[in-house]
Amino acid sequence: MRRNYIVQGIFWVLVYLVLVSAPLLILLLGPVPEGREFWRELSVALGFAGLAIMALQFALTARFKWLKAPYGADIVYHFHRQISFVALVLILAHPLLLFVFSPQTLALLNLFSAPWRARAGVTAVLLLLGLIGASIWRKSLKIEYTNWRVWHGILATLVIALAIIHVVLARHYLNTPWKQALWVTYGVFWVGLLVYVRVLKPILLLRRPYEVESVTPERGNAWSLTVRPVAHPGLKFMPGQFAWITALSSPFADAEHPFSFSSSASQPGHLTFTIKELGDFTRQVKNLQPGQKVYVDGPFGHFSIDRQPHAEQFVFIAGGVGITPTMSMLRSMADRGDKRPVTLLYANKDWDSIIFREELDSLKNALHLNLVHVLEKPPAGWDGETGFVNRAVLERHLPKASKRNSVEIFICGPQPMINAVENALTQLGVPFGDFHSERFDLV
Ligand SMILES: Cc1cc2nc3c(=O)[nH]c(=O)nc-3n(C[C@H](O)[C@H](O)[C@H](O)COP(=O)(O)OP(=O)(O)OC[C@H]3O[C@@H](n4cnc5c(N)ncnc54)[C@H](O)[C@@H]3O)c2cc1C
Repeated sequence: MRRNYIVQGIFWVLVYLVLVSAPLLILLLGPVPEGREFWRELSVALGFAGLAIMALQFALTARFKWLKAPYGADIVYHFHRQISFVALVLILAHPLLLFVFSPQTLALLNLFSAPWRARAGVTAVLLLLGLIGASIWRKSLKIEYTNWRVWHGILATLVIALAIIHVVLARHYLNTPWKQALWVTYGVFWVGLLVYVRVLKPILLLRRPYEVESVTPERGNAWSLTVRPVAHPGLKFMPGQFAWITALSSPFADAEHPFSFSSSASQPGHLTFTIKELGDFTRQVKNLQPGQKVYVDGPFGHFSIDRQPHAEQFVFIAGGVGITPTMSMLRSMADRGDKRPVTLLYANKDWDSIIFREELDSLKNALHLNLVHVLEKPPAGWDGETGFVNRAVLERHLPKASKRNSVEIFICGPQPMINAVENALTQLGVPFGDFHSERFDLV
């Protein structure tokens, strides 16, 4: 399986590179049109490459399972964020080169007198700056996540639409059949993506609804939401994966939230998500009523024991609600009769907020499980681990690995905990590929 993912991963990287570098290749391989200097063509090719990256951003976030499987959703979103800066640099290089080599083009910045092609281009760049700025500073600007997400989509669509208008109006930039073919293909691909994401995918979700079976309270201010498929077989997932859930609104509303499955992968007819009350949506989960419609888009993610079948034993390091993917893996191992040794280091604020506390205890009977609680504020008389999961705690409880890939470690919890544990594991000499993290924060 690992080999397949590596091949797929390399394949998609190559496709991406070809699509993005096609404008530059056409510039370098094709003839420079008469009367047009190299630098001017270069500026156009850089702008086109930036625009190609922007258009492909829609593919990265369209949640194609075959595209995300080799890398994992968090890596794809991370790439989406980082590559947007490359796109911005390429797109800005386009007018800047023009201004340097033909200073008279500076007049195009005056939106009152500039031709429509320049107005469209300049507006696209301004909106792109707004789009990226709002994404970088969303939290400090106190932009609510759902509003930001809606505007992110609208601005991105406007940027591409205006950029395409700019390209079409500046007609001589489509001066060879190759360039025309390339841009017609990109245009069709992009509109197709938009139709898929905004129309087709919501329709597909509407045709495969789920209904609420139960909502039960858990410790730690969390709720377990169990749903079952309505008139379809449901979905299969690997324990540890997640899905995007739409509840209390239509799939067309673009208001879905990601949650890890907490139920066993061996019982796909009943999907459970355990959700901690944190914000607008998560606070409403407890109000869902049995029979209410819910839409589930998944599974996604590569955080799963099933992707490490060679492992001789597993270590799970969880913090708070970060236990959910681990719970799915433990429940699945119990259902499968998997007796490989497991160590769970579970960090919580106090004894009462430990989600699944009783069930974890009873899982010790079904599994070969070493359960270690780490409490920030332990009760009186506590003789277990205290504070945070740090290097010393890890040294005390990590099993000795006989060889690479024999002990696979899964980490999920608050961002600072994941970072600290990853650093400690690296200091302890655990090889990079032997630990895997799931961050509950994609944006
Ligand atoms: C892969 C993954 C798995 C997750 N699994 C679980 C789980 O099993 N249990 C659980 O309780 N939580 C889980 N989360 C976190 C959960 O998605 C957020 O807590 C939830 O979406 C917050 O929504 P809200 O409207 O209640 O909060 P808000 O106050 O609106 O948002 C709080 C923060 O949550 C994040 N967030 C909000 N909405 C989304 C969204 N649609 N997509 C991505 N991030 C968002 C943003 O960073 C935001 O700043 C997971 C997140 C990810 C990325």
